[in-house]
Amino acid sequence: MNQKLLPPVRKVVIAGNSHQRLHLEDICRLLAFLRERAISVAIDRRFALYLRNNEVEVSDQEITECPPADAGAAISIGGDGTFLRTARWIGRLGIPILGINTGHLGFLASYTPEESRELVDMLYDGNAEVEERMVLRVDVGDCRDVPELPYALNEVAILKEDTSSMINVNVEVNGNYLADYLADGLLVSTPTGSTGYSLSVGGPILFPGLEAICLSPIAPHTLTFRPCVVSGDDVVKARTTTRASQYRLSLDGVSVLMDAGSEIVISKADFITRVIRRPDDSFASTLRHKLLWGVR
Ligand code: NAP
Repeated sequence: MNQKLLPPVRKVVIAGNSHQRLHLEDICRLLAFLRERAISVAIDRRFALYLRNNEVEVSDQEITECPPADAGAAISIGGDGTFLRTARWIGRLGIPILGINTGHLGFLASYTPEESRELVDMLYDGNAEVEERMVLRVDVGDCRDVPELPYALNEVAILKEDTSSMINVNVEVNGNYLADYLADGLLVSTPTGSTGYSLSVGGPILFPGLEAICLSPIAPHTLTFRPCVVSGDDVVKARTTTRASQYRLSLDGVSVLMDAGSEIVISKADFITRVIRRPDDSFASTLRHKLLWGVR
């Protein structure tokens, strides 16, 4: 997928999680830098109320329920989990998202609060780059438990629920039978999600500009299963059976219970998520730094 230059930003929308006690000063500084540059600010209501309760100055005009469509950028303050929730909130509006990391590893939220001044200057001056990330869509047919927003930037996880027994996930790719995964679960991930849950179960790391879908079984009951990568244009059909009456379907960590025996269809969504990067930054350097590659 493409990398593009972001036009100069004059309005941002901000979202964040509500456990930022250690970072309130950083957030005040970020807001001050934005106001210094006369970049107008809209803050997600829940985050705005959290800030106000912690004596951070936020005016009524700055509080918003929905992301304003004319915002040039979104700023997500938290970890990668917060970034996923911000991406869900932005949805198909296509507002590019900058992640400031107050969480753990930070692949999506990859910048530190200490970099706020440079980041604001970069947005104002139009020096930021935008990476396009594919999103997955899930169709659950006439199942009653439809996820509210059937999209995932990281992964669609099919997981066992209420049983110590394995589940069986019967998978077809483009109508061709692939396998019956007898396992604790199956992760169907995007390249973005390849450094999340999928990595923890031995899945490959995919560079985020790729359009591809990765199938990674969780503890499969055979020595021969390996994670496998199919094209981003392929359609993955999964029918899950289990000794219990239900299994769990999780989209970027937001989950619903599905009836055993039901079928889901996973394919590329008709929109993308845009991620803001500094031009001097690369996924290769993020990998090296976050995963400590090459450290002796
Ligand atoms: P969570 O269980 O509270 O946190 C999951 C962890 O995964 C956090 O440390 C998060 O980073 C990290 N993470 C999320 N997306 C990532 C990505 N694309 N690359 C690298 N690390 C990533 O759940 P959550 O915060 O709501 O996030 C949901 C995501 O958690 C799911 O989409 C799934 O990928 C991941 N998850 C991982 C496991 C596992 O590895 N065993 C199990 C369940 C879910 P931050 O601390 O920076 O937020």
